[in-house]
Amino acid sequence: MSKKNVRIRIWDSKVQLIEKQTVNHKKILAGRRKNCRVITTDNLTVIPGLIDCHVHLAFDGLNGQPQYHEELHVTEVLQERLVSDLAHGIVAVRDGGDRGGIGIACRNMVNNVELKGPVVMASGKALRKNGGYGSFLGTGAAPGELAKVMKGLLKENINQVKVLVSGIVSFKEYSKVGGVQFTLKELEQIVRIAADHGLKVMAHASSDEAVQICIKAGVHSIEHGYFISVDSLKAMADQRIAWVPTVVPVAVQNQGLDGSLTAETAVIEHTYRRQLQMIRLAQKLGVILGVGTDAGAVGVQHGTGYLRELQLYQEAGLTAEETLMAATRNGAYIIGMQDSLGVISPGRPAYLLVLEGDILKYLIRPRQGMTAEGTFQSA
Ligand SMILES: [Zn+2]
Repeated sequence: MSKKNVRIRIWDSKVQLIEKQTVNHKKILAGRRKNCRVITTDNLTVIPGLIDCHVHLAFDGLNGQPQYHEELHVTEVLQERLVSDLAHGIVAVRDGGDRGGIGIACRNMVNNVELKGPVVMASGKALRKNGGYGSFLGTGAAPGELAKVMKGLLKENINQVKVLVSGIVSFKEYSKVGGVQFTLKELEQIVRIAADHGLKVMAHASSDEAVQICIKAGVHSIEHGYFISVDSLKAMADQRIAWVPTVVPVAVQNQGLDGSLTAETAVIEHTYRRQLQMIRLAQKLGVILGVGTDAGAVGVQHGTGYLRELQLYQEAGLTAEETLMAATRNGAYIIGMQDSLGVISPGRPAYLLVLEGDILKYLIRPRQGMTAEGTFQSA
């Protein structure tokens, strides 16, 4: 998959040509044409830009419980989050929704070049059951009202439908998860309406019970999937349903915001260690794994959380190549941009990362300094 000693020519923001590097880079520098910028040294690695398959641009990841703040809808705050993504090499994010439509506003402002940022694929408001989990993420729907509520979402030109199928995972009691909110029939209706409008469904599902309903209904991706079973992973591999395991929002709970150990350490540790084992198994079974941080969730900040998630994939036992594949090519598929992102190829937009040294070494042995200030530089 990787090539050595190549020259990548970029023209008009697109990759034009990838060719064997035959001359010394000093000669290239000496002979370059006017208005042509050359980036070269002896040891550069170029990879496709990274993709975060699950973020919430509306939230900052700092506060205790995630809260919806009307006043956060200020462009400077959003700009900071988007720039942090770019600084960490993230060229596209899929937003998992918020009640106030901030993710949608962000997407529109980036598209209109009012904000600088990665590509934003927005869900708008997440779909949830009236009275169920996730009031800060979206609009509730009563039984029988689904079609009407979805019509409202579709009017906002959402890029995918986000549905909250289960509640959240408990940090106090191992393997306890908030109940399933939608029936199979309701979820099938959601998937059908989405498909009629050319949209895919990203499903928040934390218990295996919820995951199983999602698989039957034919969603595009399972988000979180804590306590997912081996059988579910096999079915997902068969049906090409992707998995975005979001380990970091659980792993960071091991420590309080002040760095102290929390009372629930054992439960949290057990929960995310199990998730790491299942990631390894998913990779072996051929499940399409993406990298998603849930940035904005408590303790997970935009950009920095991504590097931690990559390190967790390494801890899970994925090879550096497998981790990179999840972060790039698989991510592009999951967010529906497989035709333009995730692979370096002539004709595609040049969303590239240029890194000093060998990225694979970084990933095998993550080292300190792999942060915004340090290593990543987007080109
Ligand atoms: Zn989320």
